Amino acid sequence: MRAAIIGAGLGGLLAANLLAKEGYKVDVFEKLPFIGGRFTNLTYKGFELSTGALHMIPHGKRGPLGSLLKELKVDVEIKDSKPEGEALYNDKREILTKKVAPFKTLMKFYAKSLIHKFFGRDFYLNEFQKGIDEFSGKFIDAFLGWSLSITSREILFSKFLKIYQQTMRFRGPGIPIGGCKAVIDGLVENLKSYDGKIHLRKKVEGIVVESAKAKGVIVKNERIDCDLVISNVGHYETQKLVGKDYLGYLKMKLSESSGIKYSIALNEPFIGHSGVLFTLDAQRIAGLNEVTNADPNLAPNGKHLLMAHQPMLTSNVKYEISLGLKDLKRILNGYNYEILVVQSYTDGWPVNRVKAGMDIGVETPYTNLFVVGDGAKGDDIEVDGIALGVLRFGELI
Ligand code: AMP
Repeated sequence: MRAAIIGAGLGGLLAANLLAKEGYKVDVFEKLPFIGGRFTNLTYKGFELSTGALHMIPHGKRGPLGSLLKELKVDVEIKDSKPEGEALYNDKREILTKKVAPFKTLMKFYAKSLIHKFFGRDFYLNEFQKGIDEFSGKFIDAFLGWSLSITSREILFSKFLKIYQQTMRFRGPGIPIGGCKAVIDGLVENLKSYDGKIHLRKKVEGIVVESAKAKGVIVKNERIDCDLVISNVGHYETQKLVGKDYLGYLKMKLSESSGIKYSIALNEPFIGHSGVLFTLDAQRIAGLNEVTNADPNLAPNGKHLLMAHQPMLTSNVKYEISLGLKDLKRILNGYNYEILVVQSYTDGWPVNRVKAGMDIGVETPYTNLFVVGDGAKGDDIEVDGIALGVLRFGELI
């Protein structure tokens, strides 16, 4: 049995490993000259910056991605963050525990959860925020902005509840030693051991579908026949490659999320640990992490790599960046810092193909054609959601 994978991002490589382990002959086609998509490193001035994602796995080694990597026997070390998170609120830092939220807010949350469970009532999360204490309201905004690049007006209570339950079950983040690239390198090594192939600079130009069944891919005008086609490029692009219509429906249903990431060099630690610092007082920046506290090799000797992230609240990228930079100036007051790179994702690539909670699953209207990766996530945060999508794909085949 032969499988063609379109795109060597995290989802594509996880699916490739799963299939190779099951005995498939796997070919991964990647249009760029490098492997890993938005989940690998870019070396700049001796700092290991990331192409898209933060060097972080939302639920560390215990979560869906950590467990899947372990099951696939991928050789990567994930260091769980301790503490998992802190909040910067009214210029004071406080370690996050359940006790940080007032009893009344927690009770309201549990009551809404029960109403949802027994009566199926659902609503956008901003409705829940009305009337709760200021700290919890701002924490929800920072958490959503940091981990999902969205606001509470864009996520249903039911989806947030699932993510909350996943967080309670698997706990907080971890950092792969070596950054995102270490995970990708591990997957590539593993795939090679099964004789799987990755073809760089090979853009898939079309997907061959006959009688509603995927039969192969077109690369450089050549038809490559296979039994399974797995796309790592989201439903929208996949549909374009098929050239048949489920597009109209998708265009209506799916909207991308957009955000801005700052990579910052420091001569001394600012956070001082490897957890997330949620910035509740800031206008745009939702949170920061300092990965060099887990892996000093992600920066030149003695330096630190701090990353900050904000959701885009308007469509004006320059304006959003100006607000983000203003926040950073205030947050890092007294520190000698250098902004290494500002990355925005709004259109084309890199891009978050679907807003969190709006993914439509891994199946397509065509037999033997599946979508994995961003755009086909399960109900969890970013790469842990990607792992859940790949696991679902594994169940279906
Ligand atoms: P990500 O953006 O991390 O989800 O990864 C998706 C990967 O798919 C990236 O590495 C893209 O360069 C790659 N990609 C996108 N479109 C195509 C295509 N038509 N053929 C091959 N690779 C593609």
